[in-house]
Amino acid sequence: MRELMLEEMTWVEIEAEVRGGKRSAILAVASVEQHGPALPLNTDVVLGRGLARALARELGDALVAPILYPGCSDHHLAWPGTVSISPGVLAELVGSVAGGLARAGFEEIVLFPSHGGNFAPQREALPAIRSRAGEAEVLDLLDFRAVLEAWFEVLERHGWEDRTPPHADIIETSMMMVLAPEAVRAAKMQRGFVGRPDLDELTERGLQAFTENGVLGDPRGATPEMGRELISAWVQYAAGEIRWRRSERPGGEWGPAGA
Ligand SMILES: [Zn+2]
Repeated sequence: MRELMLEEMTWVEIEAEVRGGKRSAILAVASVEQHGPALPLNTDVVLGRGLARALARELGDALVAPILYPGCSDHHLAWPGTVSISPGVLAELVGSVAGGLARAGFEEIVLFPSHGGNFAPQREALPAIRSRAGEAEVLDLLDFRAVLEAWFEVLERHGWEDRTPPHADIIETSMMMVLAPEAVRAAKMQRGFVGRPDLDELTERGLQAFTENGVLGDPRGATPEMGRELISAWVQYAAGEIRWRRSERPGGEWGPAGA
């Protein structure tokens, strides 16, 4: 499926798409980290790619940049396999790629983390990332709580009241059932820590202070139907934010440089 995926297109195709109005690049920042006994380490990569592509389709004027990983996952290192980089390296990676996308002709870069641990480091690095992007505008979707609200609303509609910050839970598992069903080890799904830990405390102390199996929340009950609704809720949230920020731009939808 090469539709909208920058790395799977030729430069000739990309040039034509950019000329045709696809001036925005969507940049998802993911992770390679444990996701409990039922989901693979690249879960946030799969989710990032799926969400980015769904957002690009919704916007109609964007392409999907290569998904960036690994991410900041020190709080998952207690389990085998997790690969983590420092916030400084992440900032450099995102800034460098954003600068490259700007030089390659994109006028707007939509930046979003598909992994909770990448929100704070990217927020801190945002001024540096913006300056690396030069003329291109960086639209950030770095409000983790707003994303969680959009997802929890879907769960509530399905009569699910748990509001544990999601990790390898019903939210991630449902979306994986849509985006990579073969990767879900359904027979291995286990309940993890259920509660409302402070998000900063989770990152500072590590997940092992809360959960033995690496899961936060409970994946049991996940369905592809819920997955599709969760993806759509995220896309509506993200597209709404982007359209609102574009409308605040002097000169309207696309800046004065736009045709
Ligand atoms: Zn995840």
